[in-house]
Amino acid sequence: MTGALHDLGVSGLAGALAAKRVSSLEVTQHLLARIGAQQALGAFLQVDADGATAAARAADARRAAGDAAPLLGVPIAHKDIFVTTALPTTAGSKMLAGYQSPFDATVVARLGAGVPGEGPGAGAISLGKLNCDEFAMGSGNENSAFGAAHNPWDASRVPGGSSGGSAAAVAARLLPAATGTDTGGSIRQPASFTGTTGIKPTYGVCSRYGMIAFASSLDQAGPIARSAEDCALLLSAMSGFDARDATSAQRPAQDFHAQMLAPREGASAAKPLAGLRIGLPKEFFPAGLAADVHAAVRRALAELESLGASLVDVSLPRTQLSIPVYYIIAPAEASSNLSRFDGVKFGHRAAHYTDLLDMYKKSRAEGFGPEVKRRIMIGTYVLSHGYYDAYYLQALKLRRMIADDFQACFTRCDLIAGPVAPSVAWKIGEQGADPLQAYLADIFTLPASLAGLPGMSVPAGLGSHGMPVGLQLIGNYFAEGQLLHAAHALQQATDWHQQAPAGI
Ligand code: GLN
Repeated sequence: MTGALHDLGVSGLAGALAAKRVSSLEVTQHLLARIGAQQALGAFLQVDADGATAAARAADARRAAGDAAPLLGVPIAHKDIFVTTALPTTAGSKMLAGYQSPFDATVVARLGAGVPGEGPGAGAISLGKLNCDEFAMGSGNENSAFGAAHNPWDASRVPGGSSGGSAAAVAARLLPAATGTDTGGSIRQPASFTGTTGIKPTYGVCSRYGMIAFASSLDQAGPIARSAEDCALLLSAMSGFDARDATSAQRPAQDFHAQMLAPREGASAAKPLAGLRIGLPKEFFPAGLAADVHAAVRRALAELESLGASLVDVSLPRTQLSIPVYYIIAPAEASSNLSRFDGVKFGHRAAHYTDLLDMYKKSRAEGFGPEVKRRIMIGTYVLSHGYYDAYYLQALKLRRMIADDFQACFTRCDLIAGPVAPSVAWKIGEQGADPLQAYLADIFTLPASLAGLPGMSVPAGLGSHGMPVGLQLIGNYFAEGQLLHAAHALQQATDWHQQAPAGI
């Protein structure tokens, strides 16, 4: 097979592999060469050339023996927040540099060889570990202890964060798809900034076992790929109940690809979205929204309308409050989760110290970067005696009200739409030392995270500086199939998701 192997998505590659038009070894070697040529992007923290080559050969042998696992031999890579046995896991932190996990995260195992005792996995092979903000705290991948990742559309700009390496690698055609995690927007926002498609499922759909915890009540895994269809294929493989995650949703395994393809009742070929009501919260279209983002989102909405959807005005009145609520709850949980990195059980240990307390202090001072320290301090403060009621408890109450606001909307619409981020990707270093700038830019992704709802970013064309803009679609609990169906219909009618950065 000739032509651009790297332009094939997951579905195209799976088809070509099944038809034996190409071997996994051929694809893997092609992508490894591209990864080698694009090191300046900073997308990968580690590349497993030998492991991937051996896995590709093994996949080809299994294929020849009649094995037809859905992603057999398809190369992907994992955000370096999923623990893996094949390679060390760092979570983008010096604290975990060189950390070797004794087990694979459930998501990693299900996409690959399978969870021991659970039956075979989907058969994808991993090319390595992808750059991310330290412990997934950030919006630009600038908080990685191992250096920034760059946006393939403009290397002077961020790819978004915290799953910045995943989004950059997929946009640069180094991989057809990658895993990411989303606590407050870290799948949707980098997808938006890089013109890729990403879905954060309902909280509980993907197992958090082996996903290094940032804020446990918010963290969710999901795929970043080049189409809704490819996201559906990955999500089907990586999701499902897992007894090792106490917050895993007890539901039967889902075939999101079949759900994505299932026609709506009353729909036609010309109007595949007939009857679909899409709610537009007025708070998602504030006066300060960048004009280019607004225009791209409107363009995508007009397209959805022409496919039969109707647009309904709704309101999420506490949208603005989601920023202070999230930046209390997430740091509170982080301060607790990160207490395990003490230089004893896990992580970096200072070389010189006087006693145990000094060892803890020095190890943590050396191992964590500034953003992580800031969050640990905020989190410890809001959980402390005297402030717990004033901050943490109030934030929990507001979180519930934000979730209730969504339910009120869903009595009038099936999906909610808006921008993913208030602007296109910013320049690396542009936000300077002011972390609030980045926090404020999370405004449109945080509400769905706090409510635990599924959300997607779907490319909606280019905005200013020729940078991609994403349309956000939010569904009700477990409405991933509906989200993917709408996004797929949009991608059947438009080619925004196929636009690639120049020179890639
Ligand atoms: N930007 C948000 C933060 O910094 C979200 C990060 C995430 O989803 N992991 O916390």
